[in-house]
Amino acid sequence: MNRLIFMGPPGAGKGTQAEIFKNRFSIPQISTGEILREAVKNSTSMGLEAKKFMDAGDLVPDVVVIGIIKDRLAQKDCGNGFILDGFPRTVEQADALSKILKETKMDLDAVINLAVPDDELVQRLLSRAEKEGRADDNEETIKNRLQTYNSKTLPLIDFYRKAGILREINGVGSMEEITNEIQRALG
Ligand code: AMP
Repeated sequence: MNRLIFMGPPGAGKGTQAEIFKNRFSIPQISTGEILREAVKNSTSMGLEAKKFMDAGDLVPDVVVIGIIKDRLAQKDCGNGFILDGFPRTVEQADALSKILKETKMDLDAVINLAVPDDELVQRLLSRAEKEGRADDNEETIKNRLQTYNSKTLPLIDFYRKAGILREINGVGSMEEITNEIQRALG
């Protein structure tokens, strides 16, 4: 069974690696960032609410993203496992996830944490800005996203280390090297 979380700061490559393992394990990749960007694109009420937080590089309120995950995990295709990509990002979200999984008698199998130094992240995000033109990949917002990660999301590493399911991965290297390291960590 593969019930996985891919964690790491913005620009660590969690989306890229999550996509590789989604195909390898034939399980859905659930990216709250992607779901939110889609909502913004379609101007849904959730998208309109989320946009201001995303554009500033702030986190969208817990209640919104927890709602997204609760609905998504209830769908049939999550029965054989899933990869959460970019969720949870706060202790409140991690607690909510534990509760949702407990209610459905599911357990997490592993949390992959991709570690990359801040200066490398800034370089990667700026180059992604040029290639993909994401609204939140500009220097000011990038700084805020990294700060938000350090203050709100980093504590989760300890949360999952204590739970005994954290797998720490060096996120610097070629895409293939990192994929191999994750595969080894998952056994
Ligand atoms: P990402 O694509 O994962 O980098 O997410 C892009 C943006 O969406 C973030 O900077 C947040 O504004 C928002 N977002 C995505 N996932 C979450 C989450 N789990 N909690 C709060 N905000 C989120």
